[in-house]
Parts: sequence; C-alpha cells; structure tokens
Amino acid sequence: MDKNFLVQEILRLKQEKNAVILAHYYQNEDIQDIADFIGDSLELSKKAQTTTADIIVFAGVHFMAETAKILNPNKKVILPDWEAGCSLADGCGPEDFKAFKNQYPDHVVVTYINCSAEIKAMSDFVCTSSNAKKIIASIPSDQKIIFAPDQNLGNYLQKETKRELVLWKGSCVVHEAFSLDKLLEIYLKNPTAKIAAHPESESHILKIAHYIGSTSGIINFIKTDPTTVFIVATEAGILHELSKAVPEKTLIPAPSTEDNTCACSECAFMKVNTLQKLYWCLKNESPEIQIKEDLRIDALKPIEKMLALS
Ligand code: SF4
Repeated sequence: MDKNFLVQEILRLKQEKNAVILAHYYQNEDIQDIADFIGDSLELSKKAQTTTADIIVFAGVHFMAETAKILNPNKKVILPDWEAGCSLADGCGPEDFKAFKNQYPDHVVVTYINCSAEIKAMSDFVCTSSNAKKIIASIPSDQKIIFAPDQNLGNYLQKETKRELVLWKGSCVVHEAFSLDKLLEIYLKNPTAKIAAHPESESHILKIAHYIGSTSGIINFIKTDPTTVFIVATEAGILHELSKAVPEKTLIPAPSTEDNTCACSECAFMKVNTLQKLYWCLKNESPEIQIKEDLRIDALKPIEKMLALS
C-alpha cells in the first residue's frame, strides 16, 4: 500500500476512534513520525496512565503494550504485531522464575519492566533503566534483593548501588551484541567523540563509556553535552529522533558483532512493526491485549510503587 495513503488512513481512523499512538524510540522511522508520543519505557508508561483516548495503539513490543493495559484496564490496547517480543521478557518464563524465586525466600524481587505480567505479579518492585538505582536505594540496606531479568543491567546496578543482587541470567540480544573491537576502531578514528551506552550493554562496553543511561538519558546527554561527535551504544532507532533534535552533531551507531547491512544494532522484535501493520491493527482493533483481572491487579502493585518513586 502507498505510504501516503497509509498515513492519511491512520490519521483518519485515529480521530474517528479517539485513539492515541504511543511509539518507542526503537520503532521504524515511519512509525515514529506518525506517533502522538515517542518515549522510552518509563515515559510511555506514564503517558499510558494519563491518556484520555479510548484506544491505545502501542507501537513497541508486547510487554510494553501489556504494561499499558495493566495501567488502563478500561481502555482497548492494541499493538501492530503480536510477534513483537523481547529476548529479556521471553527468556524469563513464569514457572522457571517461580522456582528461582523460591530458592531465595527472604529476598524482595525487583524486576526490570522488560518482563511479562506474570513476572511483574511475582515482583515487589518494577523498575526501568531510568529509575532502577532510585528503586534499589529505597529498599532498606539489610534487605536482600533478587534482580531480574537483565544480568547486564543487574551487574551495573550492583556496582552503582554497592548492593549485592541475586541475578536472573537474562540479556538483551541487541545490547549484548556490541563489538568492543569495532567500537574501539571507530573511537580511534574519532578521538574527540564521546561514547554513550545503555546499561543493558555488557560491562566491557560500559567500562569505556563516557555516559551510561536509559534511552531518554542518552538523548538528553547528547542534546546537552557540548561534544559534537557521539558513538551511541543502544538500539539504532533513537538516532532518528536525535538527528532531528541535534542535526549539527555527528551520531555514530555502535557496531554489532554481526556483519549486518546497517553496521549498527537494530532490535528485530521492535522492527516487526510496520506502518501497514499499524494501519490494519487500528482498522480491525486487533490484536488486542487481554489480561485476567486478578493477574492485572497483582502486576499493577509493583508498577504503581515504581511510578510513585520515579
Ligand atoms: S532492544 Fe533488547 S530489551 Fe529492547 S525490546 Fe529489543 S530485545 Fe528487548
């Protein structure tokens, strides 16, 4: 279908159905351009909580749309492609996590928002990479903690908070794929550049980063730091928003170990969403997120604690 037709139809349907399009920074450029709001996990959760729309079209991955539904039981939450998963969420199944948690009965559970409703329901706190340090700092220092499902973020938090965390051994396929050798090669050619990295990256990447932060943290850092060249170690989708915000700066995506065509790291899960799928999902109001009410209430409690603390 013609792109202009799709854009016009999406805008028409959005108005007709009182829908809002929330898009993650890692979405395709076409989707970012048509979204009402672009953000990272925390910003999108907050937006989902305050929207007056009847339908939330969540252009992101499944756990994000599910979080929006947990916060908005009376709204219809749809996503362009049901197959938009996440290696962190998919690698932490409820039965396995329950058995893991049972090994540490005196620990509280802090989970990164990249997990399913079932895992959130087994958690005491949910966090994002923006507020994880704050959430852990709010827990009494003698209280033992399980952190799941991202071991790279967990390792980073252990160093930052000086707390010992029992880690679930999950990882993000995108952030663990950055090549240190290729990154250093780029850095040697651009010695004035600053390296900005997401804490889902492996520790050898974080060690050489000038700035470590969430997706929105990286965006703010690049917008405000006087440096003009940046190597960006997170999903390459954020370069679209950044190149509009700071066109005068040079943004180099950190390279992946894979020999991919874009020489950067893209999340295949995020990129299954397309403008065409967004159009069909808004037209048919499907696929729709459905969550049983008792599960939703249990998953809501740790999210509400996070939102109150952030
Ligand atoms: S970039 Fe990583 S953490 Fe984010 S959705 Fe993709 S697989 Fe999950």
